[in-house]
This record gives sequence, C-alpha cells and structure tokens, in this order.
Amino acid sequence: MREMQRAPFEDVIWDAAEKLSLADLRVLQLRRLRETVTLAMAVPFYNRVLRQMGLSPETIQSLDDLRRLPMTTKEDLRQHYPLGMLAVPREEIRRIHGSSGTTGKPTFVAYNDADMTTWADLCARFLTAGGLRSHHLVQIAFGYGLFTGGFGLHYGVERVGAAVVPAASGNTRRQILIMKDLQPDVLICTPSYALNIAEVAACEMSDPRSLPVRYAHFGGEPWTEDMRRRIDAALDVMSFNNYGLSEVMGPGVAGECWIRHGMHLHEDHFLVECLDPTTLEPVKPGEVGELVITTLTKQAMPMLRYRTRDLASVSEEPCPCGRTHRRMSRVMGRTDDMLIIRGVNVFPSQIEEELLRVDGTLPHYIIEINRPGTLDEAIVRVEIERELFSDEMRKLQALHDRIDREIHAVTGIRMKVDLVQPRSLQRYEGKAQRVIDHRVLVDKPAPVSGSPEGAPAGLPLNP
Ligand SMILES: [Zn+2]
Repeated sequence: MREMQRAPFEDVIWDAAEKLSLADLRVLQLRRLRETVTLAMAVPFYNRVLRQMGLSPETIQSLDDLRRLPMTTKEDLRQHYPLGMLAVPREEIRRIHGSSGTTGKPTFVAYNDADMTTWADLCARFLTAGGLRSHHLVQIAFGYGLFTGGFGLHYGVERVGAAVVPAASGNTRRQILIMKDLQPDVLICTPSYALNIAEVAACEMSDPRSLPVRYAHFGGEPWTEDMRRRIDAALDVMSFNNYGLSEVMGPGVAGECWIRHGMHLHEDHFLVECLDPTTLEPVKPGEVGELVITTLTKQAMPMLRYRTRDLASVSEEPCPCGRTHRRMSRVMGRTDDMLIIRGVNVFPSQIEEELLRVDGTLPHYIIEINRPGTLDEAIVRVEIERELFSDEMRKLQALHDRIDREIHAVTGIRMKVDLVQPRSLQRYEGKAQRVIDHRVLVDKPAPVSGSPEGAPAGLPLNP
C-alpha cells in the first residue's frame, strides 16, 4: 500500500502554498486569473482577441470562466516574433530565453525581475521535494544558453542555498572526472545523457555505481518508468522527473515528490487543463489529454490557455506526501511527435516501453521510417547485451521474435526489428533523437481539416 510507504529522506515543504486547502487554492487562483487577464489586456494580440470576444477581467467571476478565454498556440507566438507578446515595457525585461523552432526561428520568451524570482522559487520547490538540501553540491549537465533547462535549474539550486557546478552538457569524460573529484550529491541532465554518462563511466572504471551522486533530476525529453529503473540501477541514484516548457516559464511547472508517482503541478502559479486535443473538451481525471496551461503570476509574458501539445493525464487523487496540488503523469508523447505509420498512430514512447520491458535489451534504440514504394516501412534498431551475440543463435532469434511480437501487440503494425551490438547507435549529450523519418521531407501528413494547427485527429488516448 502506497499510504504505508515511508519517505526515504525527511520531506521538506519549500512553500506553505504546496499544502493549501483546495478552497483556499481556488480563491487564490481566481484572484490571480483576474490579474492575469488584466495584464494580458496590455498585450496587443490578447487585447484585440479579448475585445472581439466581448471579454474583460470582469468576465472572470469563477474559475469555470477560464473556458471562455481564447487559446494561445505556438503559431501565435511565431506570428508575434520576436517579442510581440510582451505585457510590460521592454526596459523591464531582465532575461530572454528561447525554444528551438523546427522552422528555423526560435520562439523567444521574456522575464522581468518578478518572473525571475518566481522561476527560481518554483524550481527550488520541486528540487526540495526531490531531496535537494542546502549542503548539497549539484552538477548541472544540461545545455546552458537559450534553452531554459540549464539556467532554470541553476537558479533553482542556488535559491535552495546549495552549490552548483555548471558543467553544461558535453565532454562526458570530464563530467565523470568532475564527479569523481568534486563528489557532487545531485546530477541534473536529460535522462538519455545520464545513461550516456553511466555507459562511459562503466568503460573507464569498474562500477559507475561508486560515483557519489545520490539524487538526479531529469527533464527536457520524455522518458518511461523502465528507463528510470535502469538509470537508478546503473548509477545507484534516486531520480526525479520534472516538467516545464519555455513558453510558460521553463522547468518549474510541475515536479515529483518522494512518492515518485506523478508530478505535483504548481497550481498556485499555473491553471492546468487536460483536454481532448480534437474536441478541446476536458477529459475525465486520470485520462490522457493535451495539457493547456494558463500562467497565473507571469508578468512579462502572461499566457492564456497555451496549447502545450504535451499529452499526459492529471490525477485528483490525494498524495500521501500531503501536498494538495494535483499530479500530472509523465508526458506520454506530443501531439506533434505522433508518427503515422501506414495510417496507424504510433508514439515512440510506446515502443520504448515495450523494448525496455524485455530482458537483454539496452536503453538505446532508434526508429527509422522509410517509404520505398507506397507502403511505409518501420525499422526498430535496438542495442542488446554483448553476451547475447556470443550465445547460440536460438536465443538471439527468440529475443528477436519476442520484441517483434510485443511491438506488434502494442502498435498494431509489424515493424522490422534489428538487434545491434552495444554502442553501435549514436549517443546524445542533450535530447536524444529516437526517430528518423525519411518520409518527412517529401510527404508530411496533411493537417486535419477543422483543426487550424494541424492537430491529428483520433489520438490513441490510452497509452
Ligand atoms: Zn506528493
């Protein structure tokens, strides 16, 4: 029973707001939502749209009125490139970050003084829930720069009062040297880079588990529970998941407590809806939908109902840790990550989950899609343990057949399975590339009519 679980370390609540009663939380959210709409009136784009819809801050009488507000999409941000969504004078800006755009131009997001303070505070909140204490040393192996991950976590760690080694990503041997010599307690990076570090460490020393790191905070890319088990075992750490996106702030939207069963949304700073991406109606608690986020305290660039494209579920079940804010599941995929193979919707995370469930596989894989004629062909290449190649062929064939069956069962389509030697696939220092779609350049699936941003219809909402 979960209720009987004991915290593996003394739980510390960073901010009393984490345990607000639901009634008090609603009152706070309503007041802040009205303030946000007032602030949004200073953004020409929102001002025009809200007026057209006959809406004003006074329209917001209850939290249900949130649904009357317009949605914001990535495309809206692109159209107001570079800083057309500012609600404050440009002189007030203290920091600008950006997210990489697939079309070339990044999307910029801006922060004023108050936003910077809030951001550091919210990162401190989930880092504390995940074991960080002021006497710790933290190695940040995230990319620094426009990407919000590095700087967001950096200021969060400092806010807690802990020390930072801003190692940044890359140069894996040096990362290991820093770990051995400076003895950090905590590692922060993408989950795939943690695996990369564990693997290089295993080549250089007898046991990567002897590295001093005890806690790890991962973000920046989707990962699965099986991936967590493997990383925790490889590095002998307790790893925590956190969630955020630059458009609404960066990391700090949600993070795990010691229960590690869903990430507490920071609901005093964000109103989070979970909607069916096709009908835009709320899904039931616990069902997977697209997260749509309204900022409640962001000043420089408030966001009304931002469509994140991230698919996750939100649970209203009380958490044994005592924090009252709802918990979101890990991100199952993105509406725009979804692959359509032979007309069937497939998420790379579904394939990862099946692959890692099979004994003998290593957590390194790639999905390649081709269209040699008129039919799509998908190949899943996965690394397997070296011993399996020296074993009899029969075992190798059995492993191949099992993976083939599992993938077919979960996706409904047959993919070619290619078992490859350890370390034969490319490694990444930031986000791992899991899919190579050779079809994309010539033949991208057309947007579904009726959904202006091309949201695919008929998503498989049960991962
Ligand atoms: Zn909790």
